[in-house]
Amino acid sequence: MNATKAVMEARTAGIQLDVEGDDLVLEASAPPPPAMLDLLSRHKAAIVLLLRPGVDSWAVEDWKALFDERAGIAEFDGGLPRAQAETLAYACCAAEWLNRHSVRSPPGQCLDCGGRDHAHDPLLPYGVEPTGHAWLHSYCWPTWYEARKAKAVAALAAMGITVPVGQSIKQEEQSEHLPSDAARELRAEETNLPFTGK
Ligand SMILES: [Zn+2]
Repeated sequence: MNATKAVMEARTAGIQLDVEGDDLVLEASAPPPPAMLDLLSRHKAAIVLLLRPGVDSWAVEDWKALFDERAGIAEFDGGLPRAQAETLAYACCAAEWLNRHSVRSPPGQCLDCGGRDHAHDPLLPYGVEPTGHAWLHSYCWPTWYEARKAKAVAALAAMGITVPVGQSIKQEEQSEHLPSDAARELRAEETNLPFTGK
């Protein structure tokens, strides 16, 4: 058992976990069983680190190292031209930044427009465990996600990491690009695209 698994077990049990300062705050409709409380308290410090929003323990050197490493692999192992290799490396950095600055929100309210869940406009969970989901209407998601990407671009630019001139990012990260399978099905229906998911 590690902190990630403890978080997933708590979520499965219907417990909402939040971090306030160095404290772990639990929200549940019924008191959690003692074994669950014990599990969470044993892993508290690691869970707080895992869930604390916006914590990025990476220094500029770490980001540059990731970029150089990915660009090197794509260029020398993958045989890509340098500009293309750097574009791929940049996409990796952007995905990493988004993962390290994941956003969670409580279900029941759209993170973008603040609206509620409606039968015709259901709120969908975007993101992956263990960092949790951001809940948005499907039509609110693109705007919100563009803003998220813009933040990643700005943060990387501040560290001197930019996409090579004349290139565009084609590879998007997987983690929060798509909502859950059910939502993917819904989106596929809406857009009349062939749905190939499970
Ligand atoms: Zn909305």
